[in-house]
Amino acid sequence: MPRLLIVGGGLFGSQAAAYARRQGIEAVIFDPGLEGAASPAAAGLFKEAWAGKKHRDLYAQAIPVLDQLYGIRHVELTDDAGTVEQFSFVPPTVILEPNPIRQTVTKIGDGWLETADQRYEGWIYVAAGVWCEALRPGLGVYGKVGAAFVFTGERPGRIRPIAHGRQAIAFVRDAGFTHFADGTAERDYRPELDMMTLERAASFGMTEAPVQRLWGWRPYVSGGPVFERIGERTWLATGGRKMGTILGAAFARRLVTEMQL
Ligand SMILES: Cc1cc2nc3c(=O)[nH]c(=O)nc-3n(C[C@H](O)[C@H](O)[C@H](O)COP(=O)(O)OP(=O)(O)OC[C@H]3O[C@@H](n4cnc5c(N)ncnc54)[C@H](O)[C@@H]3O)c2cc1C
Repeated sequence: MPRLLIVGGGLFGSQAAAYARRQGIEAVIFDPGLEGAASPAAAGLFKEAWAGKKHRDLYAQAIPVLDQLYGIRHVELTDDAGTVEQFSFVPPTVILEPNPIRQTVTKIGDGWLETADQRYEGWIYVAAGVWCEALRPGLGVYGKVGAAFVFTGERPGRIRPIAHGRQAIAFVRDAGFTHFADGTAERDYRPELDMMTLERAASFGMTEAPVQRLWGWRPYVSGGPVFERIGERTWLATGGRKMGTILGAAFARRLVTEMQL
């Protein structure tokens, strides 16, 4: 059976590798660890309502994948009125491939890819986030920058709506720390956006300096997320927007199903 060769070890690529391996397929990820990758910054939260009617099926396909591979966690977030809402999440820290091959893929074709010094053959999955455009020009993928801040200590989960489809959220994504994000997604990031995010964190009581700033380009494609078979043995997926955890899982399942047909 051919190997699955994956370009990009973010939420899309890492979930595809893990799901393929679970079905007995050897999978290898190439990822040089580019600055601005979205996945390390993700809160990893998801909710059926966020998927909406349009992505309800993908949501349903994703849940068993996430649960089997990593175990879905739950967190309660309290709003300013004291109402408690339950969310699900999987921390990216448990999804992301720890040791991919640290090389950039320079060229892809049907059933092959190239790095600076080698050509590999197998099934190909291009999951390179906003960088998919470089490997498949004309796709129309673009990035919107967002940042999250990490504070020491575990604080109670909080949520505050900011705008339609956007909230400030603080919760324990990883043990010992509180993860804060406010859904900022801008094509041109300006330093004052960080100041606004930090002011929102302060209004939740996180007034000290964060121990980490995580940022990345959320991949957007007009018309919605893309999962495409672009050759007999080559697929591409991107456009995870604010739902990379769910979409990455649903597309991993779709990829492996199509490979096995
Ligand atoms: C602040 C913030 C908060 C977020 N919160 C959530 C959330 O709560 N829930 C949620 O579901 N989503 C969330 N998201 C969105 C989510 O992070 C993205 O949708 C998702 O990470 C996209 O995953 P990806 O694998 O497509 O892209 P990326 O994570 O960008 O990964 C692409 C990878 O490809 C690699 N690469 C690029 N070019 C090449 C090449 N030529 N060769 C080899 N490797 C290459 C890069 O190094 C990179 O690691 C958030 C995003 C941000 C920024």
